[in-house]
Amino acid sequence: IRKRKIDVNQLADRILAKDRVALSQAITLVESTLKSDNLIARQLLEKIMPHTGKSLRIGITGVPGVGKSTFIESFGETLINKGKRIAILAIDPSSQRTRGSILGDKTRMETLANNDQAYVRPSAAGSALGGLHARTRETMLLCEAAGFDVVMIETVGVGQSEVAVSQLVDFFLLLMLAGAGDELQGIKRGIMEMCDGMVITKADSGNEDRAKMAKNQYQNALHMFPASEKGWLPKVITASSYNKTGMTETWEMICEFVEEMRTSGWFNHNRQSQNKHWMHEWIIQELKSQFYTHPIVAQQMETLEEEVMTDKRLPIMAAMELLEQYHQEIQL
Ligand code: GDP
Repeated sequence: IRKRKIDVNQLADRILAKDRVALSQAITLVESTLKSDNLIARQLLEKIMPHTGKSLRIGITGVPGVGKSTFIESFGETLINKGKRIAILAIDPSSQRTRGSILGDKTRMETLANNDQAYVRPSAAGSALGGLHARTRETMLLCEAAGFDVVMIETVGVGQSEVAVSQLVDFFLLLMLAGAGDELQGIKRGIMEMCDGMVITKADSGNEDRAKMAKNQYQNALHMFPASEKGWLPKVITASSYNKTGMTETWEMICEFVEEMRTSGWFNHNRQSQNKHWMHEWIIQELKSQFYTHPIVAQQMETLEEEVMTDKRLPIMAAMELLEQYHQEIQL
C-alpha cells in the first residue's frame, strides 16, 4: 500500500493542539522499523522539542500479578480528579520474544482508556536490535508535547528493563505484595535500591495487617541501603486499588520528592545525565545496527558462528576479523 505523504509541520501542530489521533500516528512513526518513518519521526521530534520536558515522568514496576494495571487505573483516576492529564506507556518485554503480548491480550485499564483526560498506549514489540526503551523515550516526549502533565511508564519488574526505565523517569515506583517474600516476587535487591518509593498493594479484604507489617519491614530494609546520591530516603505506602486507599498518599510522596529534588538541583541534574545517557544509547544502537546489517558482516556471520561454536576459532579472533573487514569496507 502506498502511504500518504506526511506533513511534519502539520502533524507537529496537531500534536501541540492535543489531537490524540495525531499523537498515535506520531508514536507509530517512532516505533516503526522503517527507516523512512524514523526519519520523519526525528524531524517531528525536533519540531516538538521546545514543548517537551514539562511533564512529571513516573516509572511503575512490579512482578506480574502485583496489581500494576489496577493500581494505575485507581491512581490515574486520583490524578485526573486533581485536574491532571495523564499518559500511560506500557512496556511488555515478552512481546519481543513471543511476538504475542501479555499486556495486549487482556483489556487493561479500561476506565482510563475511555477517559479523555488519559491516554493509554501499550508499546509495540521492539526491533530485534533492541532500542525499545530509546523509542519509549521518544514516545514519552511526544506525550509531553501533547500536553500531558504526568507520564507513567509501566514495566514488568523482572529484570533489565528497570535499569533502562530508571534512565527515563524522574520518580521510580516499585509495587510489592505483602507476605510473598522478595525471592518469590523475583524482585532483585538492585531494583529495590533503585526505587524512590514503594507501594504495598492489595491492602484490603483482611490483608491490611500483613500489608502494614510488610510496610515496616521494607521501610527498614530501605534504611539499610547506602544513602543514594540524591539524598532521598524512599517511602513505603500501603494501598488498595479496590478501596482507592493510599492513592493521594502516593501522589503526595511524589510531590514531596519533586519539590526536594528541584530545590537541591538534583531534578535537573538527573534529566541532564539522562539526556547524555540516551545519546550514548543511540550511538550504541546505531553502530550495532549498521554493523550487523552490513552485507559483508551478514554474509559471513553464520560461518563464523559455526566455527566459534565448534572451537575452530576463538570468539575474540572471529570478532576482530569481522570488525576489521567491516572497517575496511566502510572506508572504501
Ligand atoms: P499486574 O499484572 O501487575 O498488572 O496486576 P493486575 O492489575 O492485573 O492485578 C492482578 C490481580 O490482582 C487481579 O486479579 C486484580 O483484580 C487483583 N488486584 C489488583 N489490585 C487489587 C487490590 O487493590 N486489592 C485486591 N484485593 N486485589 C487486587
